Amino acid sequence: MIAEAVRSIRGQLPEGVRLLAVSKFNPPEAIREAYDAGQRLFGESQAQELRAKHELLPDDIEWHFIGHLQTNKIKYIAPYVSLIHSVDTPRLLAEISRHGVRCGRRIPCLLQLHVAREETKYGFLPRELDEYLAGGEWRTLEGVELRGLMCMASNVSDEGQIAREFQSAADFFRHCRRTYFATQPSFCECSWGMSGDWPVAVRHGSTLVRVGSLIFGERIYQ
Ligand SMILES: *Cc1c(COP(=O)(O)O)cnc(C)c1O
Repeated sequence: MIAEAVRSIRGQLPEGVRLLAVSKFNPPEAIREAYDAGQRLFGESQAQELRAKHELLPDDIEWHFIGHLQTNKIKYIAPYVSLIHSVDTPRLLAEISRHGVRCGRRIPCLLQLHVAREETKYGFLPRELDEYLAGGEWRTLEGVELRGLMCMASNVSDEGQIAREFQSAADFFRHCRRTYFATQPSFCECSWGMSGDWPVAVRHGSTLVRVGSLIFGERIYQ
């Protein structure tokens, strides 16, 4: 079932859009099934869980971090994490950079944009992010590389609203790329779309969909 879901979603993605299989709370055996179906990108939302799975599973897996990251947990994933999707403050980016320098690498990061209506979601407001990027301090951070933006749409059934939120993220991404990253083609990633809204996300600029329950089934939180 896991293998079928992975193949089915991958088969529906247009060229240039990748699937991140969100494996949080799922056991290594489930990840292994997706791996055997050819999946190599996996996303986790807790640093220690990511580390444990990284130690157990094949080396050619790209591990992505997608959850809220506390600065005291960066150390668990800094040496090998392929992409941190959820950078939501300047301070967190600076701390990740410190760890990157210590590990001798530039850690790829996405800046999390807040476009949803809900107040509880993390992330920069577009105006805040614009001010931060205009400030230019991020250019001095030698242990990170900014690869693009991440966002989550509101958890609503109104597809029109979800589409508008993703489209505003896509428009803002284009603005950032043109204004701040014109000479940096590696700023190219738009991480949006989850199990419930990935097809909408793909129609509105996503290059990386983060799909969990559609692949692994409903999560059991303990
Ligand atoms: C859990 C999670 C996902 C996957 O959610 P599903 O609805 O299970 O696909 C995607 N992105 C983030 C940030 C998450 O925390």
